[in-house]
Amino acid sequence: MNNGTSLQKLLDNSEIQSLLSDLIQLIKTPVSIKDVNGNLLLGQSITSSTEEYVIVANQQAIGSVTGDSSTQIIARLLSYLANQENLVLFDELTTIPNRRYFNRYYQQEWRRCQRENFPLSLLFCDLDYFKSYNDYYGHQQGDNCLRQVAQIIQDTLKRPGDMVFRYGGEELAIILPNTASEGAEIIAGQILQRVELEQIAHHPSPVSPYVTISLGIAVSVPTTVLSPQTLFEMVDMALYRAKATGRNRYCLQSISDEY
Ligand code: GH3
Ligand code: MG
Ligand code: MG
Repeated sequence: MNNGTSLQKLLDNSEIQSLLSDLIQLIKTPVSIKDVNGNLLLGQSITSSTEEYVIVANQQAIGSVTGDSSTQIIARLLSYLANQENLVLFDELTTIPNRRYFNRYYQQEWRRCQRENFPLSLLFCDLDYFKSYNDYYGHQQGDNCLRQVAQIIQDTLKRPGDMVFRYGGEELAIILPNTASEGAEIIAGQILQRVELEQIAHHPSPVSPYVTISLGIAVSVPTTVLSPQTLFEMVDMALYRAKATGRNRYCLQSISDEY
């Protein structure tokens, strides 16, 4: 089998095609595989028997492979794209998934829970008096504190589908698919406890000598009537209540409270 044929085979594989198109769509980067003569190979039938292939992403050559190495082309392309994906989906400071990842995952899990008639729990965490923390200890120490809290939450989540995201600033969002309010409250309680047990000094905090967080929880079985945006508004209200009633706690907004 010559190189062209096996490369063609790989590109014709529907799984690889959908993986590639997912990744390409995600990073919004035009990616192609061209032979040395500049003929586009990705997604097109390959008639060339050229020995050398150039991988082009974002109009820049990112590598070339020769000979019987069509699997290498795909491997290199995938690793390049995976790397781009990492840059696009993970937060640099805390290394946890970022807001963009949240948006994708939230939509995806919403649809899954809707199909399967499972409850979905959405939690929002916000560090308490973090502005005074920064003012007192400095921004660098503030960054360390954020990293620490993100790590604690990540360590607390045990199920593979449970995920924490840095939504923005000092706000973290948690998605617990297939989890009802009892489960969400247990997780929230564990997170509160573990953050306080970490005993990260927070001298200017009026609620504790240590860093604390507040959490809002909203739970619902997604339906076609209820939108993801509504659950989002509910979690915001719940977090607001947790702040207003003294911080270092969680509040739950269930669907029957408001709708
Ligand atoms: P509250 O208890 O009501 O949440 O009070 P707060 O001070 O935490 O809330 P506020 O919204 O007033 O302040 C948020 C602070 O979070 C201000 C901002 O400087 C800090 N912050 C946001 N992102 C970062 C970050 O990436 N690093 C650091 N060090 N600080 C951040
Ligand atoms: Mg905030
Ligand atoms: Mg805050």
